[in-house]
Amino acid sequence: MKEVTYEGLTFRPYISKEQIQARVAELGEEIKRDCADKVPLFVCVLNGAFPFASDLFRAVEDIDAEIAFIRLKSYEGTSSTGTVKEVLGLNDDIEGRTLIVVEDIVDTGNTIYRLVNDLKKKNPADVKIATLLFKPEALQCDVKPDYVGFSIPKKFIIGYGLDLNEKARNLNDIYILKED
Ligand code: IMP
Ligand code: MG
Repeated sequence: MKEVTYEGLTFRPYISKEQIQARVAELGEEIKRDCADKVPLFVCVLNGAFPFASDLFRAVEDIDAEIAFIRLKSYEGTSSTGTVKEVLGLNDDIEGRTLIVVEDIVDTGNTIYRLVNDLKKKNPADVKIATLLFKPEALQCDVKPDYVGFSIPKKFIIGYGLDLNEKARNLNDIYILKED
């Protein structure tokens, strides 16, 4: 793996695709144990979570599970705009369902906090959060992800769904911004 450059910013390799796949398999096992007697509805938060959701969903193939998609946007450049917008809503009937919201990253927590609150208004049985990445030092909201791939420092990262102004989502590995 070598460094990559986007918009004049240099990123170094941080988490390899092999590490990601191994961790996703472990999370799949946890979800299978927790949801053995349920039919969880995975709610993939587009755009960033789609590679993670795709892998995680297929990591639970021995249980019945469903998937739905929702689209949110809160970021511009490398820092949060602070405003969270729902662009594309969830039409499925979620009353009484066990939801697993699948996010690429929980940074300040604003996005997931608002989304979980909105979902709870539709009376699901349970709302769990699965996030590939979690920046505990950046958290500003009262949320606790149930399934965390990797806890990482408060740095900007790209790849495996995570973008810099919509670029770099197709990188197979995860990269971190070089700040030297
Ligand atoms: P939050 O609302 O501050 O938790 O931010 C959540 C959203 O911001 C994520 O779903 C990502 O789309 C984006 N985001 C946060 N940190 C990063 C990062 O390091 N790289 C790319 N996108 C990020
Ligand atoms: Mg996102």
